[in-house]
Amino acid sequence: MPLLLVIDDVGWWSGENGGHKNEPYRTGINRDHCLADYLAIIELAKRINMRIQIGMVLCDWSRNNILAKIPSTTWLGTSWKDPVSIDKLDYVANVLNENRKHLEICLHAVGHEFWEGNIMTRAEWADSNGIMRDKEQVKAHLDVFREIMHQNQLGDFPVSFIPAAFLHTFGEGNGVATILKDYGIRFISTPFERMKGAKQIQNKYFGIDNGIPTVDRGDNGIPWFETNPSIADKIFEGPICGIHWANILHSDAEQNMNTVELWAEKINSYGQMFDRIIAKDTFDCWTQLVYHCLADIHFVDDTMFFDFSKIKKMGIPFLNDSFHIKLETTKKINDYGNIIERSGNRYIIKIEVEKTNSIKMAGKS
Ligand SMILES: [Zn+2]
Repeated sequence: MPLLLVIDDVGWWSGENGGHKNEPYRTGINRDHCLADYLAIIELAKRINMRIQIGMVLCDWSRNNILAKIPSTTWLGTSWKDPVSIDKLDYVANVLNENRKHLEICLHAVGHEFWEGNIMTRAEWADSNGIMRDKEQVKAHLDVFREIMHQNQLGDFPVSFIPAAFLHTFGEGNGVATILKDYGIRFISTPFERMKGAKQIQNKYFGIDNGIPTVDRGDNGIPWFETNPSIADKIFEGPICGIHWANILHSDAEQNMNTVELWAEKINSYGQMFDRIIAKDTFDCWTQLVYHCLADIHFVDDTMFFDFSKIKKMGIPFLNDSFHIKLETTKKINDYGNIIERSGNRYIIKIEVEKTNSIKMAGKS
């Protein structure tokens, strides 16, 4: 089972939780965000050797007051004024771009909630029942998200999506996935327990919605606003450890790296587990999850056979050409599998899907 880290609500400059005053639920941190908060993400990604997903909220990155044209994106409606200076945005955008191999910018939100007649309701893409917002409004929000990415030279539209406030409908032909597909989204993660339409999903951890892999984020119980949380006893059971920006930060930004250190240790401990593997990136996680759930493996004497027929039958999209197994054996392993790590009797073997049907082990046990 893979483990991918997904961090929501990255991109706010003010941390203030405005949920009680017609403003967005931001990160809840008791200070403004700063460069050190972005450096924390990058440092964590390096320490766990993973391209971390960051679900970005981009209204504070608006330039030319562009959001005034789409009043449902913010609490200020047509009176929107860009809150952050261009110099500051340029500076942080540069740092993000220099470190893009360590982080994947994901679609989370423009303003996170939805304003009708300047009145805020949750949330941006779907209402509190998980019913998608008006289609034209959703498209306008997606278009402006893309425009703000371009304004800040943050690259093309993302391929991964995390629904704001996890208000989301799976399937039924009328969820936001029907639109997101045309924008190039190829991966959605959200807690299935809170997702409308989740009953149709046949696999415990994933389904395909309008051609888009949709993966269960689970719930690790870490409050979204908690800085420097205690995580030693937390268990990340499924393929995704979903957290919020405040969770990897310290209320004193100068101490961010102490919090990062705790997270790095925690995530890396999953790499040591026999039944877990740390995903390198989104599609490494997706591929590993699918093979973990649907590939059948059996032994005949000294040969391990793989059966991928369930995966082929389902026509699952966006799979990489390889996945990994962990194997414990005292036998020598022939070179069908590419051994990428060995510690004692334990091996991590990379399996090339198209080339390999079996691994042979030689010698006597
Ligand atoms: Zn959020």
